[in-house]
Amino acid sequence: MTTDRMPREKHAVLAEKFIANEQRTDWHDQTLWMVRQKRDRAAHGLPEWEQLREWASAIKAHTLSQLEQYLLEFEERAIANGIRVHWAADAAEHNRIVHGIISQHSATHIVKSKSMLTEECHLNEYLLQQGITVVDTDLGERIVQLRKESPSHIVLPAIHLKKEEVSHTFHEHLQTKKGNYDPQYLTAAAREHLREKFIDAEVAITGVNFAVAETGGFVVCTNEGNADMGVHAAPVHIACMGFEKIIPKAQHLSVFLRLLARSATGQPITTYSSYYSRPRTGQVMHLVIVDNGRSRQLGRSDFRNSLKCIRCAACFNTCPVYRRSGGHSYHTAVAGPIGSILNPNTDLKVHADLPFASTLCGSCSNVCPVKIDIHEQLWKWRQVVAAEGYVSGGKKMGMKGMALLFAHPVLYRIAGGMGRWVMHKLPGLLHRRYNPWYKQREMPAPPAKSFRNWYLQQKKTP
Ligand code: SF4
Repeated sequence: MTTDRMPREKHAVLAEKFIANEQRTDWHDQTLWMVRQKRDRAAHGLPEWEQLREWASAIKAHTLSQLEQYLLEFEERAIANGIRVHWAADAAEHNRIVHGIISQHSATHIVKSKSMLTEECHLNEYLLQQGITVVDTDLGERIVQLRKESPSHIVLPAIHLKKEEVSHTFHEHLQTKKGNYDPQYLTAAAREHLREKFIDAEVAITGVNFAVAETGGFVVCTNEGNADMGVHAAPVHIACMGFEKIIPKAQHLSVFLRLLARSATGQPITTYSSYYSRPRTGQVMHLVIVDNGRSRQLGRSDFRNSLKCIRCAACFNTCPVYRRSGGHSYHTAVAGPIGSILNPNTDLKVHADLPFASTLCGSCSNVCPVKIDIHEQLWKWRQVVAAEGYVSGGKKMGMKGMALLFAHPVLYRIAGGMGRWVMHKLPGLLHRRYNPWYKQREMPAPPAKSFRNWYLQQKKTP
């Protein structure tokens, strides 16, 4: 998803558009909850699950504490393996490097497997401006690309769409039969369409799930094998990675690969977990290592842990706000709870709304395979947002008013009595037009008396 393609509307406004379709909202909610339950079954099937989480978190913490050393070790080994390594300080430099490589090979047929980093850098749009079209080859990504939309989920990019919508899109772009909603038929059509793209590919772009410092190799995980198809067909491979993807040793893959697929979809392992260590004969392999704000996040002690993320999306699937507001409401490439702590780092003003898109229930932290304290970081970001002055005047006044009431019991009791009176006598004042809390809720009947009054009465009763 790109902020360029998305309007700069806030999460609440975009979420309101999503939930206007109640049927879709319920279906989206239930589908992602089903994925969460699959994750639970897979996790509970491993007695050592919590131990794996501890190890993963510790390995990442250690790596982040010695990042420079591991990145340099990785670069040295990768170059020795014949990989051409590039460093990009930000998204613009990343895009320029990728464009430069494509131009150097005079390539016009480019295939790309799912890479959230290239989404973050808006690579497709940049290349399009240079007259180069990239074909996304992950099925979900291809669907949203044909629809000129952005992915709404980092693992399931088209999860916001129903098969009928996919059928319309394929009918329009791939000439499938109108009204044929059979997923098998639609998948076969996509397969045929993409097969041609793979055969013609001159450059294959992939992401990186894990880069191993001791070997200079890297792992790319897909369920469709599309990264492998592209890389094996094209004479040029460009892999793009955020620098936090580094892990020290190959043996650490045994921890992360077991956690990743189980956390993402409930599978024991991703169908294709491919390890690339050197270009094959006649192939050129490039690797672009990107910072794009990660150094800044590394320097923020409260938020450094967010760089442990392995992009499994378990926090998305469990989040009651994400499930019921949809990925596009986050107006960023990486949505959901992790997106809400990563994106304020890149532009606090634009993303000041995101830390508030949470109930702070802590479910995200409970499922996170690398034990990121997500809900605590959301709460900390809220404090930063308030301190930087990005909270609306109305909200600030409301909070000050609440603080005053909670600090003065007499005032609190008077306000409570007035509130109950209004709810009884003038319920229209609290109607949905005036009170956003009512929009999606049936409010309970107001109590006749406060808890305090009830309690005092009980005490008097013998
Ligand atoms: S924060 Fe944790 S749960 Fe969320 S995507 Fe990253 S690794 Fe997965």
